[in-house]
Amino acid sequence: MTELEKEVPKKYDFAIIGGGLGGLIVAQILSKEGKSVVVLEKNKHLGGVIQGFKRHGVTFDTGAHYIGGFEPGQNLYQYFKYLEIHDKLVLESLSKDGFDRFHFAQSGKTYSYGQGYENFVEILSQDFPEHRAAIQKYVDEIRKVGEYYHLYSLKPVDQLEQRLNFDHIYKSVKAFMDEITTDPELRRVLLASNLVYAGDEEVTPWYIHALILNSYIQSSHRFVGGASQMALQLALRIRERGNDVITKAEVIGFNFGEGRNIQSVQLQDGTQVFADNFISNMHPSTTMKMIPPDRIRKTFRERILNMKNTYSIFSVYLVLKPDSFPNLDHNLYFFREDKIWNLHQDIKQWPPAFMMLTQTAKPNEKYASGITSICPMNYEWVKKWESSNLKNRPQEYYEFKEEMLQRYLDVLESYYPGLRDNIVHAEANTPLTYYHYTHTPEGSLYGIIHDSNDPLRTHIAPATKIPNLSLVGQNIDVHGVLGVTVGSFMAAGLHLNLENLIDQVRNA
Ligand SMILES: Cc1cc2nc3c(=O)[nH]c(=O)nc-3n(C[C@H](O)[C@H](O)[C@H](O)COP(=O)(O)OP(=O)(O)OC[C@H]3O[C@@H](n4cnc5c(N)ncnc54)[C@H](O)[C@@H]3O)c2cc1C
Repeated sequence: MTELEKEVPKKYDFAIIGGGLGGLIVAQILSKEGKSVVVLEKNKHLGGVIQGFKRHGVTFDTGAHYIGGFEPGQNLYQYFKYLEIHDKLVLESLSKDGFDRFHFAQSGKTYSYGQGYENFVEILSQDFPEHRAAIQKYVDEIRKVGEYYHLYSLKPVDQLEQRLNFDHIYKSVKAFMDEITTDPELRRVLLASNLVYAGDEEVTPWYIHALILNSYIQSSHRFVGGASQMALQLALRIRERGNDVITKAEVIGFNFGEGRNIQSVQLQDGTQVFADNFISNMHPSTTMKMIPPDRIRKTFRERILNMKNTYSIFSVYLVLKPDSFPNLDHNLYFFREDKIWNLHQDIKQWPPAFMMLTQTAKPNEKYASGITSICPMNYEWVKKWESSNLKNRPQEYYEFKEEMLQRYLDVLESYYPGLRDNIVHAEANTPLTYYHYTHTPEGSLYGIIHDSNDPLRTHIAPATKIPNLSLVGQNIDVHGVLGVTVGSFMAAGLHLNLENLIDQVRNA
């Protein structure tokens, strides 16, 4: 460092707090558009919930198990092309004729979702021949929502037949499904993957269901070698342009100047990082708690602090003996009973269901090297240990975790008899693990709950009441890889021309 640099610390155009998917995407957009940026990530590894980990040489995904819209020309593919990472990721397509499969143990029946709109209708109609028209209507309606939201369809606004409107955001998943069918079994099958939005039938707005399901029906891929690839590739692109991505850099506060603007952020080690603008990838309530109360309007602060979060999950990771378990070309959703909602609530019956997928090191492997599986879990069950240290929690916590893991393995074995014999190593994450790594309140799966009964109050915009502070990440707009990507463009659009950015994405 020169004497001058010591006197005049570096000042970036943008400091981004958090190197999760949202922080890294907004940093790459700004960096590509010529701004100087720094990403400050508290953890050793980038990616937040997608950082994953390795055991016995097997890479496990801690978030982002599969993505939609990744065939050339589809929405996520175009976004990633603009971000210069589309051809650097190793992915494999899930089965065209059953990317998601749903098994209901009580009836013994299994149903499949096909990729492609016509294929989806065709495959489900084989199980529900008398309901073909309802299945077609379902597909038509979710497809329309994808079309009407121009950041998803990537259509110029003046070419939209209609825009997303109050009718979509005020309608719950239940209200939507009431218009599609009254058949309980078909309803159950069409809503059985509600874990992808941690939904509540009467609360979740149906446009959320529609945008996510529409993207998976377009096409479904999973990462081979971990979803953290996205984070690593984004960081490479950001650094290639001479910008900074710094890990083990925990932000503990904002420093204000004379006026209403933030001047710098304070890191745990005492360093101050200066910038003209700050974008927080932390959960909005974590961000609010770092702002002195006199710097932000009480009503705004209270609204953010009081928002409810989606439930958390328990994850199970299994290292398998070589050549012992097939590499599945689909995700399996298993339900012990016909209940598909609120699976996190009853500790006696837990786990009532699970979603699982296989993990491999290379695409198209015959056998799996690992299994990742998740089931919703209530944060209240682990809350009493939340102040303990990740590496040194009370014995009682480890006993709880072990009991839940063994119960989980029993349920997995009920579907795959003999599975235990093929396990080399088994471990689990609880809601506390997610809380520790992301600082998302209650280890929430997808952050703040969008409520169709009060959509405007539960919608978070990227701009805040502090002129040079904005927000990015899964709490803006919609969660998930596609949702966070779209939200990151919205956040960048506060500083750049959004329509121009979307033009570039469309033509990438
Ligand atoms: C189990 C699970 C499965 C999922 N499956 C899928 C899927 O199959 N498909 C899909 O599309 N999506 C899936 N998702 C959702 C998707 O992974 C998330 O929506 C997305 O990755 C969230 O990114 P984010 O940037 O908003 O948040 P985060 O990943 O939470 O990033 C926030 C970052 O901020 C950092 N941070 C927090 N506080 C500080 C601080 N004080 N200083 C510095 N840094 C800080 C954190 O360490 C973290 O890196 C899944 C999520 C989970 C949890």
